[in-house]
Formats: sequence, structure tokens, C-alpha cells
Amino acid sequence: MLSRRGLIALALAAFVAPAVAETPKIPVVASFSIIGDFVREVGGDRVSVATIVGPDGDAHVYQPSPADGRKIAQARLIFVNGLGFEGWIERLIAAAKGKGTVVTLGKGVAARAGEEGADPHAWQDVGNAKIYISAIRDALKAVDAQGAETYEANAAAYLSKLDALDAEIVKTFSNIPKERRRVVSTHDAFGYFAQRYGVEFIAPQGLSTEADVSARDLAKIIRSVKQNEVSAVFLENIADPRLAKRIAAETGARVGGELYSDALSDAKGDGATYIDMMRHNARELAKALAP
Ligand SMILES: [Zn+2]
Repeated sequence: MLSRRGLIALALAAFVAPAVAETPKIPVVASFSIIGDFVREVGGDRVSVATIVGPDGDAHVYQPSPADGRKIAQARLIFVNGLGFEGWIERLIAAAKGKGTVVTLGKGVAARAGEEGADPHAWQDVGNAKIYISAIRDALKAVDAQGAETYEANAAAYLSKLDALDAEIVKTFSNIPKERRRVVSTHDAFGYFAQRYGVEFIAPQGLSTEADVSARDLAKIIRSVKQNEVSAVFLENIADPRLAKRIAAETGARVGGELYSDALSDAKGDGATYIDMMRHNARELAKALAP
């Protein structure tokens, strides 16, 4: 506890201290938490990142607020995923009269085609995350040439961490027999993960969380869970847990835990950064799949 005199001294010191000339940070927006983490990694101290859909949030069905419009209006760069992920973003940018450059990170990847169109969940393959990082680096360099060296260095350091993460995930599954690598998730968010890391996902909901699950679709999933010997049913941090729990109850499959699909966790969770969330998912899956 500071004494009264101490407090006065502190207040005076703050008053007389010469203002430190600080370079103003570049205001940027990230549409959702995972991109927010990427932009912070590359931008470091030079940028101030405002994220629209925060931890555990569902970007598919998000409803923007006036505060989001203000973030957009101030931003020099607006980083979005695209591929139909944030269906509300274009209207928000138009309504806010945002003048910042829109950088659509999903454009750079080889998009998977799902039944309902392009699969937006590209970040679930670490190789695609690397493509996002390079695009973020280039966009920041274009608006802030003075920071070019910083962005290059930050991106290079993070890209090498992503290489290590990718190798770690591959290794996590290396001892698990192919026939055991089948699980249920809530929505179809893990197609890129499946493609890269060789785990098969069955999901009652499609590529978006928007559509309701019909009784017929659910019955189909339950049948296929029973036939295919699915190792576990996983919850998702952005989805209602009841659906997965019901499938587990009706089939006798075990509930494997919670996966981070379309959002990071809050700071206290195990998925507060992209690297942590991918590592968490891989470990939870491997635990459930191990014979
Ligand atoms: Zn999704």
C-alpha cells in the first residue's frame, strides 16, 4: 500500500514526466480470434489489433455491434478469412464506411470443396496458417515500410514455430492405427485437419453452424457411428455440447473432450493461442484414438 505522501509524489512525477515520443501504432482489425493471434505475432508492438469475434465465439452466426463498426472505421487493414466464413463482414465494412484495405487470407490456400461450397476452416492445417502469416507480413509491410524488418523477423520466427508444430502433430498420430482414426465432431470444421493429419471426422452439422440438424441427419450419424466403430465424440468450444452428448449417449461412444474449432479459448484456457489450440486438439484426439 502506498502512503498518502507516496501517492502525491507519484501523481506529481506523472505530471512532470516528459512525454515520451511514442510511434503511434497501426490500427488493424482481425475478424476473429485466430487471425487476431496471427496478426499480433507478426505485427508485434507496431500494431494495435482489434478482434471482432473473440474467444469461444462463433463467427458463422455472429451479429456485429456498433462498436465493431467503430473498430472497422479506424482500421488501416482489415484481416478476414473469407471463403464464406464471415458472411456479415462485407455489410459491416460498407456500413462503417471502412477505408482500410481488406486482406482476405483464405484466398491464398487451396480450398477444400465441401458439399455446401468452399470449406473456410483452412487454419486447421498448419501449412495454411503459414500462408496466412506470409500474407499478413506482406500486408503490414505495404502500409508500414518502416516496420518491414520487424515484420520480416517476427514472421520468420513464427513460421519456424509453425514448422515445428506441424511436425509435432504428425508425430502425435504416427503410432495410431488407421482404422482407429475416426471421430465425431459437431460441425464440419476439421476437413483440413483430416486431410493433413489423417484423422477422419463425421459431423452432424455442415460447414457452417447456421443450419439446424434434421432428425434424419442425426439418425444417419448415429447409424454410421454404430457401424464405423467411432473412437469418440468430441465437443467444440463454439458449439452447443448437447448434440455431441446425445450422439454419445445413443451410441455408447465415449465423449472425447473439447476441441477448438473456429475460435481460441480465453486466456485461462488451453487454447489461448493458435499454437496451443492446435497442440491441445492433437493431444485430445490422440488420447481418444489410442488403442
Ligand atoms: Zn466453422
